[in-house]
Amino acid sequence: MPDSLLEQRTFFKLVCGAGNEDSESVKRLVYVYAKAGCKVFDLSANKEILNSAKEAQKLSGMEDLHYCVSVGIKGDPHINKAQINYDKCVKCGSCLKSCQNDAITDYIKVNELKCIGCGICAKNCPQNAISMIEKDADVKTILPYLVDNGAEILELHVTGQDVNDLDYKWKIINECKPKFASICIDRENLSNKGVISRIKEMISLREPYTTIIQADGIPMSGSDDSYKTTLQAAAMAEIIQNANLPVYLTVSGGTNSKTAELCKLCGINYNGIAIGSWARKIVKPYISRQDFWTNKTIQQEAVKIAKDLVEKI
Ligand code: SF4
Ligand code: SF4
Repeated sequence: MPDSLLEQRTFFKLVCGAGNEDSESVKRLVYVYAKAGCKVFDLSANKEILNSAKEAQKLSGMEDLHYCVSVGIKGDPHINKAQINYDKCVKCGSCLKSCQNDAITDYIKVNELKCIGCGICAKNCPQNAISMIEKDADVKTILPYLVDNGAEILELHVTGQDVNDLDYKWKIINECKPKFASICIDRENLSNKGVISRIKEMISLREPYTTIIQADGIPMSGSDDSYKTTLQAAAMAEIIQNANLPVYLTVSGGTNSKTAELCKLCGINYNGIAIGSWARKIVKPYISRQDFWTNKTIQQEAVKIAKDLVEKI
């Protein structure tokens, strides 16, 4: 159960990416990390993606895996997709080289299934030809289906400023009666006090200890394995810890192999860690191979690398 992982502080969540709708890549990620001992997987709120994860679970032979599905409110980068303005694009290839998810192809097209909305390509475009557009999920339809089909945690990314959208989606999440609701929050648009008051308002609808607060440092920034990258995640976690709320606390956003050590040094009693960019990056050379499913040596090497990270929690 996710409860015991949280209580025992062994809750390691692999973030496949709220915007990652590439079934094959999710299947390979779940397979590798399940074999490595990870028990919780964060997926896009999408039927095919949940099915791919379950297929990977079967192939891995691992039991007791738990699925979290994520949606975002308007204004949150997790629901964004890159869009290219071809009137401005000079086909320099800079965006293609900078995308860590291989979501931009040679002819400078965005593969929306792979795009996770990180915005790195837009920052690297010398022509300002890339903008980020919102692609919202139909939460009213998809979330009840996903809960009925095994999603135990429903997560809402609440970085945006659209409070009406937040209220609407949070209400739907609660009506779905998931085992846990998760609030992923950062300080991009809110002060420290604003973060706590938003959380307090949201958890007032829920029973104590049925909510996970995922303290997000800088979303999707953890692809460098440094303490500096994870600093904001630890700082955000400390603010939430100090508020003494009846919630479980996990750390995300800029998380990597240094997160556990830094949080422990800072006296943060986290219940779990969620790692996305770094966890995906370290296994990418293996899972992106064409012979991944037939090459046992490659699979084993990927699992070994993933295991080193999972065990660092
Ligand atoms: S970086 Fe900008 S100009 Fe260069 S290929 Fe990409 S979209 Fe076009
Ligand atoms: S760099 Fe990020 S936003 Fe741009 S295409 Fe790749 S995943 Fe999408």
